[in-house]
Amino acid sequence: MTAPTKYIAKIKESIRKEDRTSGQVSEQLPVYNAWSADGDVTAELVFVNYGVPSDYDQLERMGIDVKGKIVIAKYGGSWRGIKPKVAQEYGAIGCLIYSDPQEDGYARGDVYPKGPFRPNDGAQRGSVLDMPVYPGDPLTPNIGATADAKRLTQAEALNLIKIPVMPISYGDALPLLSSLTGPVAPAKWKGSLPITYHIGPGATKVHLKLQFDWKLVDCLNVIAKIKGSEFPDEWVIRGNHHDAWVNGANDPLSGMVAEMEEARALSELMKTGWKPKRTIIYCAWDGEEPGLIGSTEWVEHHASELQQKAVAYINSDGNGRGFLSVQGSHTLEKMMGEIAGEITDPQTSVTVLERAKSYRATNAASIKAKKDILGSKSLTIDALGSGSDYSPFIQHLGIPSLNIGFGGEDDAGVYHSIYDSYDHYKRFGDPTFEYGIALAKTAGRTTLRLSEATVLPFDFKGFHKTVNQYLTEVTALIDDLRESTEVDNQLIKERRYVLAADPTEKYISPVAKESIPYINFSSLQNALNLLEKSTTTFVELYSTNPKPNTNLVTLNQLLAHAEQKLLSTDGLPRRPWYKHTIYAPGFYTGYGVKTLPGIREAIEQRSWKEAQEQIEIAAKTIIEYTANVDAASKILMMR
Ligand SMILES: [Zn+2]
Repeated sequence: MTAPTKYIAKIKESIRKEDRTSGQVSEQLPVYNAWSADGDVTAELVFVNYGVPSDYDQLERMGIDVKGKIVIAKYGGSWRGIKPKVAQEYGAIGCLIYSDPQEDGYARGDVYPKGPFRPNDGAQRGSVLDMPVYPGDPLTPNIGATADAKRLTQAEALNLIKIPVMPISYGDALPLLSSLTGPVAPAKWKGSLPITYHIGPGATKVHLKLQFDWKLVDCLNVIAKIKGSEFPDEWVIRGNHHDAWVNGANDPLSGMVAEMEEARALSELMKTGWKPKRTIIYCAWDGEEPGLIGSTEWVEHHASELQQKAVAYINSDGNGRGFLSVQGSHTLEKMMGEIAGEITDPQTSVTVLERAKSYRATNAASIKAKKDILGSKSLTIDALGSGSDYSPFIQHLGIPSLNIGFGGEDDAGVYHSIYDSYDHYKRFGDPTFEYGIALAKTAGRTTLRLSEATVLPFDFKGFHKTVNQYLTEVTALIDDLRESTEVDNQLIKERRYVLAADPTEKYISPVAKESIPYINFSSLQNALNLLEKSTTTFVELYSTNPKPNTNLVTLNQLLAHAEQKLLSTDGLPRRPWYKHTIYAPGFYTGYGVKTLPGIREAIEQRSWKEAQEQIEIAAKTIIEYTANVDAASKILMMR
């Protein structure tokens, strides 16, 4: 801070005697955001809450413009990369991101080393690559970043942020925020620092100078392959990343050791003469933290072979004490419920399925949701957004994918800091390491179930049911938006907002929005209707022991390749790397998933023509998907 007083940020996480690796100062990676731009900027500071689009709407109402300013945003509310992206869209020239104690500091519990939460000087490193556009090496979209790959220039890479971005601790943010003047921040924007939060701008100026080393370095993936004895050209792929910010005891090593234990168990089995029916590939990815680089480049490089041979991809990442959570392709939901019903929870001795259901049912938002969970025998899996190495497999290639992990009783505030250490993990992550074993059992069984099944355990009924729910959601979304737009336009027309505002404060009324037309969902509704009929037939015919002369290779290929039919050739609007029409990370949420993303985001952005186009595209992919299900049924019918 250069004005009104001078403050130099410490940007240093201190040594704590309770944490043995916190003193490895010379080996520690400094605090920074990967893929920030180089820059040397001085400007007035503006507090923008989480820095998501709705926060800038609010600023507009207050007559505050961030053009030419440096913004300071809180962590939370979105993936971190969204904050500088939206800031630069609004003309800001620099971005600071700080960890408010409300998010993962003293407002949540005792701070480290007394408790697990983020201390005063803890900062969250992390990537700000615009991954919702495409992940991986920014210079090689769609192709593997091999030594001789044709590379874009930095200026051509569409996912590089153009302004300098820096993460800081709440210790360093406090002097800046307490110096801000201007309007008091809205109640919802307040964090847990002992100050009155002001927005600025005003006398508070900051100087941000960042310079990075842009040289090209290698990423080293570790790939181990066990050849299948019956279906060598059908691959079950299991992965976790091995790179970390600093020590990474939780993220990613708690998941990586579970994967290594699975691989060790398989090697023991192999010593007895066992061989898997399908080929199993174990992967340890590099470069996940800067932007899913190791996995994305590997997937892009081997794309056509993977689309031929991969049956499924099973991912894990950080793991800890608590409840099983699974996200993934809904074709695999039924199988995951069966597996979860076979594994014992280390703390309570019920199955991990019952524990996960209990957690979900008691925490569900509505009575209906609670009833649904209690009424279902199986596990509900969530859709995949982004944030780990499954992204290229499912969203770029359409390979059925899963992300598996335990957690919820390991809450902490050391994510991407030097304190994500063995000493922290041993006290607060998974003190007995029993959830590491539970993960190895869950992911190991999933791998084996998929490698050993004569007919792949895919369930299209669950997929149909889930997509039907997504369709209900997007139709409700546009209906709600239509109604709220009409009411809002009336409020604007009758000057109600202005009359409700405090006349002594600056207030700029929003402008009326175009009223919303009715769009036609019938093609998608009809496609889903046909899919439902096909799945009913398939379920009746499905057998794990089909007739002896069944063409298993063709049958399994139809099952494994069905998900690829859900890809659209052109990909999503403005981000063609993402090809899946059912699951994608949100363009303005980052890690958070958008289901039926083309349709949903077009509605959110009020692009009606695009929404209609995306409905037709999604319907077409569902029809092609259905054709695969029908073809599989036909094989099962043959004598
Ligand atoms: Zn990770």
